[in-house]
Amino acid sequence: MSGKVELETGFEPAISCLGSAGRRRAWASGALAAHDVIVKVADGIDTVEGLRVGNAYLVRGAEGLLLVDSGIPGSAKRILASIEQIGVKRSDLRYIVLTHWHPDHMGSAAELRRLTGARVAIHELDAPVLAGRVRPAKGRRMMGLLLRIFRVAPLVADVTLRSGDVIGGLEVIHVPGHTAGSIAMRRADGVLLTGDALLGDRHGRLRQPDPGLSLDPDQASASAAALRSLEPRLLLPGHGAPVRG
Ligand SMILES: [Zn+2]
Ligand SMILES: [Zn+2]
Repeated sequence: MSGKVELETGFEPAISCLGSAGRRRAWASGALAAHDVIVKVADGIDTVEGLRVGNAYLVRGAEGLLLVDSGIPGSAKRILASIEQIGVKRSDLRYIVLTHWHPDHMGSAAELRRLTGARVAIHELDAPVLAGRVRPAKGRRMMGLLLRIFRVAPLVADVTLRSGDVIGGLEVIHVPGHTAGSIAMRRADGVLLTGDALLGDRHGRLRQPDPGLSLDPDQASASAAALRSLEPRLLLPGHGAPVRG
């Protein structure tokens, strides 16, 4: 089979919802080739398969290639392989957009920037935390644990974003709560990338963000409601499978 698994039409939940054990079974049964590192989820958008934590999306647009989130540290090799698989030179990656500063989203951004020359972009309220100039709010036990597990070096972003900015053909929407500078990104055709502001489960159903992982749970749930009210045709979350509208 080709290196791509097409999901835009005839969406294949049996593949899209696989965890790593499911993927291994799929490879064994021939449903996925062992070299598959991308899954097409919409026209011009592929997910990087096989990241250990979280999702990363490759978005092709008029301005070139954009990566949304970068996985935990150690994900760069897999992401570079996925860029090759869609037939784009790594030097054509223009932006690495981080939906927020958490280590499972920014963990490989510095390495990818070094290897591709892409510019790192994040909301202006998360940029100081990413750069290590502001300590993240404490008091959330799980987040303290994550930070200890994924020790990551501070990273100074090249571009800071605000609500209403357009980057790589995607409109930036500020959805604070999970972090102060969490963003979602919307394409004109109703595809919505939500980071951790609104999640999917492994069956492609909507899942609320975990209040225990949010800086401000009330604000996070208001942001999640605001995203739902946009009625996306396809929601691409930071964790879990794509959710069809
Ligand atoms: Zn997060
Ligand atoms: Zn996350």
